[in-house]
Amino acid sequence: MTNFRFKALEVTLARKRKSLELPKEKVSTYFGELTFNRDAMREFLTQEAFQKLINVIEKGETIERKIADQIAAGMKSWAISKGATHYTHWFHPLTGATAEKHDAFIIPVEGGNAIENFQGGELIQQEPDASSFPSGGIRNTFEARGYTAWDPTSFAFIMERTLCVPTIFVSYTGEALDYKTPLLKSISALDNAATNVARYFNKNVKKVFATLGWEQEYFLVDAALFRARPDLSLTGRTVFGHASAKDQQLSDHYFGTIHERVLDYMADFEYEAHRLGIPIKTRHNEVAPNQFECAPVYEETNISVDHNQLLMHLMEKVARKHDFQVLLHEKPFKGVNGSGKHNNWSIATDTGVNLLSPGKTAASNFQFLVFMVNVLKAVDKHANVLRAHIASAGNAHRLGAHEAPPAIISVFIGSQLSATLDDIEKQTKKGKVEANGFNPNIHIPKIPDILIDNTDRNRTSPFAFTGNKFEFRAVGSSANCASPMTALNTIVADQLTEFKIDVDALIKKGKRKDDALFDVIKKYIKESKRIRFEGNNYGDDWLAEAKKRGLENIVSTPVALKKMMDKSSVKLFEKNNVLTERELNARYEIQLENYTKKVQIESRVIGDLAKNHIIPIAIRYQNTLIENVKGLKDVLDSKTFVKLSRNQMLTIKEISEHVEEIKDKVAEMLEERKTANRIENMEDQAVAYNEKVMPYLDVIRHHVDKLELMVDDELWPLPKYRELLFNK
Ligand code: ADP
Ligand code: MG
Repeated sequence: MTNFRFKALEVTLARKRKSLELPKEKVSTYFGELTFNRDAMREFLTQEAFQKLINVIEKGETIERKIADQIAAGMKSWAISKGATHYTHWFHPLTGATAEKHDAFIIPVEGGNAIENFQGGELIQQEPDASSFPSGGIRNTFEARGYTAWDPTSFAFIMERTLCVPTIFVSYTGEALDYKTPLLKSISALDNAATNVARYFNKNVKKVFATLGWEQEYFLVDAALFRARPDLSLTGRTVFGHASAKDQQLSDHYFGTIHERVLDYMADFEYEAHRLGIPIKTRHNEVAPNQFECAPVYEETNISVDHNQLLMHLMEKVARKHDFQVLLHEKPFKGVNGSGKHNNWSIATDTGVNLLSPGKTAASNFQFLVFMVNVLKAVDKHANVLRAHIASAGNAHRLGAHEAPPAIISVFIGSQLSATLDDIEKQTKKGKVEANGFNPNIHIPKIPDILIDNTDRNRTSPFAFTGNKFEFRAVGSSANCASPMTALNTIVADQLTEFKIDVDALIKKGKRKDDALFDVIKKYIKESKRIRFEGNNYGDDWLAEAKKRGLENIVSTPVALKKMMDKSSVKLFEKNNVLTERELNARYEIQLENYTKKVQIESRVIGDLAKNHIIPIAIRYQNTLIENVKGLKDVLDSKTFVKLSRNQMLTIKEISEHVEEIKDKVAEMLEERKTANRIENMEDQAVAYNEKVMPYLDVIRHHVDKLELMVDDELWPLPKYRELLFNK
């Protein structure tokens, strides 16, 4: 018999450190060398085209055909100088991955030769035959055309000798078929709304940017062990596996010394990332064994989202080179921490002010409070929108599953800020505050300077203020950040628009501007109070408390997804011109279908593995026990036999019980699957998969994991947790 587990272990144990050829130069010498960045633009474009492109990037101007041709020609020369042979539009379809279709630069010319060609038209727009991308019913096959259109704000880059042009992806009728289109619209909505509010404080503000810095968590598993686990290969997570005697109890992995094979891997993908202009800065071991994290310096959200998608791709690609498999799944292993992608988010003005950073003066603190309170109010009003846009089959294992963070959306702001807000809420008469050039008759609360390096942290909160930004921690590790960021930008944009209406109404009634601003935030602080939670988000107390406050605890993924289609959500996205009802519905359907399919695949995998891998091995082992007992009976007198075969007999019996249970449950699960498959309504089908099929996964696993502890280690076919989690 071939036991792939032992073969895989042998390969893994024999791994040697690969000698890595990374350049000796400083990172700054090659940072961004594979991007068509400003330096490259300046070098390869005419002065006219360069200036025009900058205007397009910075001011959103449109491009005439002539200039587009010039830019394309420059981009082509640059790409060829870097060894590129092909070009592609690179986009984020709703599959969650990124998509590319490569075309060669060459076209044949007379005389049997060829020339490299790349025109403005090819740069600006393409029509990929993309009928297999999910469209959620938006694009019927008879109008299967989808268009990709250049996003000039994100630098073109070279990967695998291919010039990649970041694009949006829309249907023939202009509806979004990707993640980037609504993201860009939400960024613009937020820009408009936030600029209007920022101008209460500084008339020179012309633009407000949303900034994003993600922290990407991941696991690494040796490639040989990974391949010996069909569940990992097919679903991204282990559907079986008894806990290792030691895993993360001692917290000895967190921030520990990085193992050299892992470090080689990190250095390699960071090198690739830096060449692509991705500003990766931080790397460390995470809490669970073989779990790690990396994070870049934050960037404008659209760029940061592109960079995260690109990085996830690089991480997978480079891992193969190092005989690792990177696991981006939210919960690859039961019983140890799952992986998230903390989205650190803030808003900043073109005058260089981080609007979520407390300032040194009363005036800037006042501005900070205005934005901070509006975020609180937005999250309170639209918590379900955020919940809906982080829901996925993988993330369901984190949210609401006794793991960080919970499914209840709340905001942590720290004790000082809480005290400040409480204080404002209670202020009734006007107090004097020293303000430079500011109306001294208003009660601008003084925020302690110490807040700037606030170390007040609450690791259990799904949405935490961390001194100068909010950290949305409930995002799943494999997610495209665009979706949660689109949701966040939109709810805040909507809120800021409302805020301006409220403030202007008071001003119209004769209130002074500062008083009007203050009165409205005071009102908002009161109204949004329930969303603030400073305590332990994992505790059962919080479940009860949240319920009392009327905060929803949506554990089910199909239910969470459905919140996308709530009237208030549809109104929100339509009003802010981010997504239409039809587009939202398409997304909703795609997510639902994705959820159903993922559970379906897991259910099949668990059924197959249980029947073909686990049960035969359990029975084989049981047979050796039976043989043994029979032998004992032959050699022992009957009294001694009864005494000494007691535990063996018990094990034989227990194995049969587990085997029977597994067989029964697999059969029942199959029936539930068949029933679910007959359901035509997608919503009901997803709910059936969640409520009827999903529970079997846990039950079957329970029995298999018990068998793992009983069966001879020599026979067990799947790499065990201790092998997957501790080998490097
Ligand atoms: P932590 O203590 O949570 O690890 P870090 O300071 O290391 O915090 O930052 C984590 C991420 O937050 C990094 O990607 C960082 O660039 C990002 N970040 C910092 N400031 C901002 C900001 N103003 N807007 C968005 N992201 C930010
Ligand atoms: Mg952080």
